[in-house]
Amino acid sequence: MIPEELRRPRAAPETEKRQFEDEALETLWEFQEQGRQATLEQLQSELQLQSEVKDGPSVLAMQTDGLVTISDGKVDFTEAGRLRARDITRRHRLAERLFADILALPEYEVDACRFEHAISPEVEEAICTFLGHPPTCPHNRPIPRGKCCRLYARKVTPLVASLADSQVGEEFKVVFLRTPMIDRLAGIGLVAGAEVRLIQKKPSYVLKVDETTIAVDEEVAKGIFVKKI
Ligand SMILES: [Zn+2]
Ligand SMILES: [Zn+2]
Repeated sequence: MIPEELRRPRAAPETEKRQFEDEALETLWEFQEQGRQATLEQLQSELQLQSEVKDGPSVLAMQTDGLVTISDGKVDFTEAGRLRARDITRRHRLAERLFADILALPEYEVDACRFEHAISPEVEEAICTFLGHPPTCPHNRPIPRGKCCRLYARKVTPLVASLADSQVGEEFKVVFLRTPMIDRLAGIGLVAGAEVRLIQKKPSYVLKVDETTIAVDEEVAKGIFVKKI
């Protein structure tokens, strides 16, 4: 057995500081989004509720580091702080969408809080594209747009679509399945990563997986999500 403290190592001070800053910036972003001005007191009390970090990093230190300004007890972003707040908010809300809609995780809010610190810009963009550049999070708050979203406005092709929305004759890679038929489909090799060709859509959906041809009804086709090869 691995001792508990080794399995869940405490974050390094640098990581802890970054995470605190991210939380603070995100909270300040939410204040401003609601048209509220945050006082240092309000921000600190919000953070104590949300953050596990109670000592060490502070909002005052963030002023020294050039992320926020504090004047008359009111906190505002610097330009650098605003950009980082926008980024972290975007990552958090994209993660919420992914966890709530695709993975159906009941604790998606908590998971999104952990995940937001860990993803690179490449992963963030891949998630956004995968989800079809969603405009809002599950709480209906706006997801700040990324570079990928601007490209998407010109070229409307979702990266992942269900077979029911795909073209006959094309070849696809299976990305994920959301159907009670998952075991039966796996039995013929139709699993995530498999390559399929869509032969026909009417009267039923006919697919070719390797040398096997199968017919499925529309409900099942709607649950097979693919990406064009
Ligand atoms: Zn949300
Ligand atoms: Zn996007």
